[in-house]
Amino acid sequence: MANGEIEFIKIKNFIDGQWVEETGVELEPLYNPSTGEQIGEIPISTPETSAAAVESSYAAYDAWRCLPIPKRVGYLFDMRRAMQENAEELALSIAVDQAKHISEARGEVQRVIELLETACGIPTMIQGDTLEGISGNINGRVIRQPLGVFGGIAPFNFPALVFGWFIPFAIGAGNTFIYKPSTQSPYFMQKMGDIFNDIGLPKGVINIVHGHRNVPQVWYDHPKISGVCLVGSTPTAKNIAENCGRGGKRTMLLGGAKNYLVAMEDVQTDIFIENFIISCYGSAGQRCLAGSIVALVPEIYDSMIEKMIEASKKVVVGDAMDPDVYMGPVISSAAKKKIENYIDIGIEGGSKLVLDGRNPNVPEKNKDGYFVGPTIFTDVTPCRTIAKEEIFGPVVSVMKISGIDDVLELIRAQEFGNGACIFTQNLYYTEKFIAEADVGMVGVNVGIPAPHPYLPFGGIKDSHLGTDKVQGKDGIDFFTQNKIATVRFAPPTGYYTGGEDEKAETTSKKPQDVRSCVAR
Ligand code: NAD
Repeated sequence: MANGEIEFIKIKNFIDGQWVEETGVELEPLYNPSTGEQIGEIPISTPETSAAAVESSYAAYDAWRCLPIPKRVGYLFDMRRAMQENAEELALSIAVDQAKHISEARGEVQRVIELLETACGIPTMIQGDTLEGISGNINGRVIRQPLGVFGGIAPFNFPALVFGWFIPFAIGAGNTFIYKPSTQSPYFMQKMGDIFNDIGLPKGVINIVHGHRNVPQVWYDHPKISGVCLVGSTPTAKNIAENCGRGGKRTMLLGGAKNYLVAMEDVQTDIFIENFIISCYGSAGQRCLAGSIVALVPEIYDSMIEKMIEASKKVVVGDAMDPDVYMGPVISSAAKKKIENYIDIGIEGGSKLVLDGRNPNVPEKNKDGYFVGPTIFTDVTPCRTIAKEEIFGPVVSVMKISGIDDVLELIRAQEFGNGACIFTQNLYYTEKFIAEADVGMVGVNVGIPAPHPYLPFGGIKDSHLGTDKVQGKDGIDFFTQNKIATVRFAPPTGYYTGGEDEKAETTSKKPQDVRSCVAR
């Protein structure tokens, strides 16, 4: 990528520490969404390749889990350092195939570095518990252990972040990992594979296999796979939950979203408008925490819409590499068509299109890119399709709400439950919203309620299947299992006098015949 020139990208699998060029398999083209040009190709791996990766990760597991924890975590420190040294190169890799704007791509790499820093605390986070003195000679102990080999599947929109959510926590805890990136944004992991080799990560600890569902399909019933995690759409999450349920695998599945931004009558307008732009148009609306519905109380309904339109018109749409651009393209021509179809549905459904982002002006070199500009519908009612379904693009539906109870009811009625934000200075609204908004992540006067890496991240309802969330303590819980030890530490033969309970029983009265499976 010297001088901004992109060489033709040949995506390869990374198996057992080696780059493997698959021969005789289907190759899919990889596009630059900013220009529509083909920039590379990606192999659609066979189930046999997927199975080979399982064998490699399984073979690596025993040695990896037995490595002293400081040594294991040392690799995370090295990975962090290498990412920091190569941060710009990594950000460019995201801007190239996912076409996330370069400034946001830099932010994504920074988040992964912070996730690695959090996972470097694993020696502290992984500690178990001891309960002394259950009886005179008996202690109980809870030990946190790894499970084995995990498979993880990424969506197109966060090729780096999802790596950071899964892998540092999984391998830091002693598991090994097979990662399937999205076929639409695989380039970041090609860069990471080089880093794994540069830091001398033992082979098989991380394998990367590209392809579609035939890669994870091998995992569901495989005896050498312990769990599967996904970040993707809800239908994909449900499909994996069904398959993994059959095989009894542990799962953590983050799904789709439809997020509310609520502005009350005492909203600080400047803060709201700034955060509305970041939330609804950042990553071209392709974020699981993107604002999608703006709910306004009657007192500010007309005036705020005017300001939203004015600010949205200033959003510069164009090439993801152009520093003067705010919003890049969406991921593919299919995604562009899908978003435009939702705009048609909105119009047909009777909502008012007050800002039409179809066919925005872009420079000549980007004329074949996949662009949709900021789009705003007003007078949207909750039962409309555009108010219920995930559009995953820069399309905003504005609703009039009567007050806090009304909007909480609307949020509760939604199938999704990822995030919701309120903009107010009122303590009553704030506390009520935090307590009652039926979502996993709440924001107050912020447009994207993404928790910091030290805290768990994830939604509820159809936005998250499974119990543990990613990152923070939840990230450790998911990638470890508890083993409970009951230890009777009797003195050598001849000295044993029984536990305190037994002593009491023998010295006072004849004990009742109580048999228990619990050691006393
Ligand atoms: P997707 O569901 O189409 O694909 C996600 C991944 O799953 C891809 O790697 C894909 O190849 C794979 N996949 C697709 N069908 C599969 C199947 N049947 N079995 C196994 N694997 C399958 O999603 P996408 O379009 O890549 O990403 C966008 C979606 O991800 C949106 O719905 C978005 O809300 C969601 N997302 C959620 C979060 C979150 O934190 N909840 C974060 C980012 C993205």
